Amino acid sequence: MVKNLVKYRVTVDRVTCIACGVAPVTCPEVFVLGSDNGKNRVVDKYNVKTDENISIGEIPEELYECVKNAAETCPVNAIKVEKIEE
Ligand code: SF4
Repeated sequence: MVKNLVKYRVTVDRVTCIACGVAPVTCPEVFVLGSDNGKNRVVDKYNVKTDENISIGEIPEELYECVKNAAETCPVNAIKVEKIEE
């Protein structure tokens, strides 16, 4: 049986991100400014894929509010979060 765990997919548009630093301050459990180009990315623990243009991660439900707060605070709307249906 597949366990019915609720997870969320986080996407950071690193082209749009202006590296203001708000995301890592608002939700340091999930976001960090990358050492590659200084822009926001998903931390290794939750990272699925990161390159210079995009960072994708999967987070457990308990981090949803934290990511949502960062997404709502981002001045250029570069963070998206959506439920993954399993
Ligand atoms: S809040 Fe937005 S612009 Fe600022 S670092 Fe995070 S993703 Fe980039």
